[in-house]
Amino acid sequence: MLRLLIIGAHPDDAEFGAGGLIAKYTGAGYAVKAITVTNGNAGHYAVPPADLAKRRHAEARAAADKGGFEIEVWDNPDAQLSPTIEIRGDVIRAMRRFAPDLVLTHRANDYHPDHRATGQLVQDASYLVRVPNLYRDTPPPETRPVVACMTDFFTKPNPFQPDVTVETTDQIDKVVAMLACHVSQVFENMPESRGEIGNVPQHEDERLAWLKDFYASRPRAIANRFREALVRDHGERGHTIEFAEAYEISEYGRRPTAEEIDALFLRA
Ligand SMILES: [Zn+2]
Repeated sequence: MLRLLIIGAHPDDAEFGAGGLIAKYTGAGYAVKAITVTNGNAGHYAVPPADLAKRRHAEARAAADKGGFEIEVWDNPDAQLSPTIEIRGDVIRAMRRFAPDLVLTHRANDYHPDHRATGQLVQDASYLVRVPNLYRDTPPPETRPVVACMTDFFTKPNPFQPDVTVETTDQIDKVVAMLACHVSQVFENMPESRGEIGNVPQHEDERLAWLKDFYASRPRAIANRFREALVRDHGERGHTIEFAEAYEISEYGRRPTAEEIDALFLRA
């Protein structure tokens, strides 16, 4: 029995960044939980913050129900996140309570300040989670979890390193079904910000196909960008894998062996 915890800044970050691995975990009957550090209340061009927070909470819940995982949405305001001592305590307690084998988060260099803050919070918690004198109301786990970062394409001060690749070709439809629950984002705010709101189909089936097209460009770009790592991890088959996710192992979590990596990322 494995336990996967995704700590993302916004209510749709887990599905976008790790939807394929989430689907693999739940498909294998393993426990998955997503924590959203902010309530996402800045992420819309028209819906005011209080209404949006409620709406995004419901969307995150629907996506979690669809995907078969647990969700926690924290009430920190969107686009105003700082890596404070208080929130770091919340992250440490949450990691202790869920006792994950693997934690996924953002890297601490990323375009969105909330992603950076969340990456920093988890990076700092990765060591402190095992310090017993901190937060004595919630005892530490026996071993530190392995911590890994979801893919980004930023290069300064250093580019993302694809330590682990996971083929997600069979998971694409499941990820799209989860993402489709985030209506305010995938069918409203994201297309609006790209000037494509007029292209969003109204009919449900066409909407899903449209969303699949949009989402699939990410795992396809990851497969193409990290082709060498795919071949390293999957042999000859790596040359033809179309959709993948890639993860960078954090130096601050437990350092896994090659066998542990295969087990944690369900590549056995
Ligand atoms: Zn985000």
